[in-house]
Amino acid sequence: MSASVTVRVPAKVNVQLAVGAARADGFHDLANVFLAVGLYDEVTATPAAELRVTCEGPDAALVPLDRTNLAARAALALAARYGIEPDVHLHIVKDIPVAGGMAGGSADGAGALLACDALWGTGASRDELLEICAELGSDVPFSLVGGAALGTGRGERLTVLPVGGAFHWVFAMADRGLSTPAVFREFDRLTAGTDVPAPVTSEDLLAALAKGDTDALAAALPHSNDLQPAALSLYPELAATLDAGLRAGALAALVSGSGPTTAFLVSDPDAASRVAGALAASATCRTTRTTSAPARGATVTHHA
Ligand code: ATP
Repeated sequence: MSASVTVRVPAKVNVQLAVGAARADGFHDLANVFLAVGLYDEVTATPAAELRVTCEGPDAALVPLDRTNLAARAALALAARYGIEPDVHLHIVKDIPVAGGMAGGSADGAGALLACDALWGTGASRDELLEICAELGSDVPFSLVGGAALGTGRGERLTVLPVGGAFHWVFAMADRGLSTPAVFREFDRLTAGTDVPAPVTSEDLLAALAKGDTDALAAALPHSNDLQPAALSLYPELAATLDAGLRAGALAALVSGSGPTTAFLVSDPDAASRVAGALAASATCRTTRTTSAPARGATVTHHA
């Protein structure tokens, strides 16, 4: 048995999130283009007397430490499948904003799964791990895979997408979180009585990713997130953040997933610094981060 395993897992931005009408089961069909970005949580799994979750980082107080934590749920799911006692301490170093629309909880779920898998030496195949991820939540498989991928169905059926180069981003974290189910409910409210079209993937956007063409991606981003009007409706102050980033020279601005983190595509690292500085000075967000994409999916960084 290993002494400890640490896994690093990236956040995501949805460069496209096309949302269909609510289905009979309450879920929505999605055309979801995920891009993993270089903002990471770290999950360390260490043998312990019983399952325990701890968390550190600026948002740690917002993270549940009981068995509802996605990291704990991942460990329990893997242990149940292999008949292992889930006696593990999961420590999360959290850099991804909580309830920020960047799949932070999903990242911890995928991270814990990979860490426990290595710690316990289960020998699970990649497909088995992906299956457990899909049971844990729609965004969890992508956290394992990283890079860029198209998610269909509820978002959990993944097709890996080619990415031809690096894209530079600035993220603005908001003062409070938004609940993803609440944003979907607001989407349903805003679209009630309208004919919501079936979600269709943007070919221009996929071509821009494949070429690594920042200008083409910027051209494809406006209105690519169908949840943006709902997020703005629940969090109207985000409009000022989007505006501040665009005025500072961002090539495109959008709400990340269900929000309230906002994402700004820029041409290069210098532009990222300028836009981040202007956003901080605008006092329309809590904090900013600059990074690039695509990032690797969940990766073991330490195994002792
Ligand atoms: P997504 O982008 O996948 O919709 P999100 O990034 O907006 O998700 P999360 O940070 O994943 O949101 O958190 C949503 C809620 O999930 C939190 O408010 C918290 O109650 C719960 N949660 C469970 N496990 C975790 C975890 N490991 N980290 C953060 N939140 C967690």
